[in-house]
Formats: sequence, C-alpha cells, structure tokens
Amino acid sequence: MKKCSFCKKEIKPGTGKMFVKKDGKLFYFCSRKCEMHALKLKRKPANMTWLTKKSKKKTGDKK
Ligand SMILES: [Zn+2]
Repeated sequence: MKKCSFCKKEIKPGTGKMFVKKDGKLFYFCSRKCEMHALKLKRKPANMTWLTKKSKKKTGDKK
C-alpha cells in the first residue's frame, strides 16, 4: 500500500494521487490538501497544525 508523501498516512487503492516531479521523483498524496501543502507551500509536516491536532490533543485552550 502506498503512503502519503506528506502526512505518511496509508493511501487506499483507488484513492489519492500520484505526482511525478521533473527530476523523476515520485510522490503520493492521500488528499488534495496534502498535495497543496507539499508542493505549493513547501512546508514540513512537523510545522502543520492541522496534522498535529489530530495526534495530540492539548487541553486548556489559551486565548
Ligand atoms: Zn496525506
């Protein structure tokens, strides 16, 4: 099973998207969101709050 090149989630067969760079590197994305962030924003997953929110729930919101 392929894994998303951005968020490392497994991509179910028939879903997701494959992207080939000019230099021949292959990328797989589980969603358009991952594609956008990986290709256009060029950000690392560690910096993305929408990813860390899923795995870590912090209690006590500060305003
Ligand atoms: Zn993804």
